[in-house]
Amino acid sequence: MTDLVVFLGPPGAGKGTQAIRIASEFNLAHISTGDMLREHVKELTDLGKTAKSLLDEGKLVPDDLVIQMLTERLSHEDCLRGSILDGFPRTLPQAESLEKISNKFPVRKVIVFEADQEELTKRILLRGEISGRSDDTEDSIRVRLEVYQKDTQPLINFYEDKRIVTKINAVGDIDNIYKLISKEF
Ligand code: AMP
Repeated sequence: MTDLVVFLGPPGAGKGTQAIRIASEFNLAHISTGDMLREHVKELTDLGKTAKSLLDEGKLVPDDLVIQMLTERLSHEDCLRGSILDGFPRTLPQAESLEKISNKFPVRKVIVFEADQEELTKRILLRGEISGRSDDTEDSIRVRLEVYQKDTQPLINFYEDKRIVTKINAVGDIDNIYKLISKEF
């Protein structure tokens, strides 16, 4: 069971929070490319040095670097029981890179988190006060929402063609949203 479940949705939609809970309840690996990149920035690795300004500005890190990082991560033993991908793929080339390894790591399901832009901006700004994430500024949020619409949203069609998409209303009570998502596992 090395299946992948992809959590797809705009920044601030609650993917990370839900992914952590689902992964722990269903004993799956939680793979957040954003967390991994922030760790690289903290550790001052070469990748971290390249990624830092992109993260702060809300832009995407180049596909080849993220694909390499993700592919390496999937080789870890905890991924043998299945994984939740939180924040990957974010572009068509990234989705296509998953197709290439689909014999080993098939994408079984894509859960799309839906929420309106105003709500998301509010949520992220609130989170910034709490977590101090350096990309939770108004400028960066605007860029991240634009990048989502331009680069990531087209993936919904890509996966709808494969009939593996479930859409979830991501606005509302966290526990209710969790219940909706957990039905998919
Ligand atoms: P996240 O924590 O998922 O919101 O990601 C934070 C930031 O990390 C994004 O704004 C991007 O700069 C970078 N990032 C995370 N995942 C990816 C990805 N799959 N492709 C490119 N950049 C990414």
